[in-house]
Amino acid sequence: MKDKNCIFCKIAKKEIKKGPFYESDNFVAFRDGSPVNEGHTLVVPKKHFVTLLDIPDKLGVEMLNFVKKVAERLMEEKFGDGFNIVMNNLEVAGQVVMHAHIHIVPRKEGDGVRLVSRVGG
Ligand code: AMP
Ligand code: ZN
Repeated sequence: MKDKNCIFCKIAKKEIKKGPFYESDNFVAFRDGSPVNEGHTLVVPKKHFVTLLDIPDKLGVEMLNFVKKVAERLMEEKFGDGFNIVMNNLEVAGQVVMHAHIHIVPRKEGDGVRLVSRVGG
């Protein structure tokens, strides 16, 4: 299902510029506009899917590998000493942007960040 007004499709196609921006054949990663912690980054497939369940298996494996690369990079860049991976799937679980994406949230001792989702208190 395509969505021509999808903000993450526009970012993936570089119609909206983001920096820092990481890219592979099928994925992009860029900073969350409302970060919960420094370096909070989103990994987004270039193709429009809504949830994890819509992503074909092979691409899902590729996505996890790309998440690992980006997380490693964030650690190297000293954004955190560890990190959380979060994925909200559908509205009831807190998904606001209906283009599948994985959050990487770098963590530091005592940062006070509470996850899993921004919804539900
Ligand atoms: P979710 O609740 O998992 O759908 O998260 C959507 C995330 O996308 C939120 O953390 C937003 O801050 C972030 N976001 C929405 N629009 C943009 C944008 N244009 N650029 C960067 N991040 C965005
Ligand atoms: Zn999209």
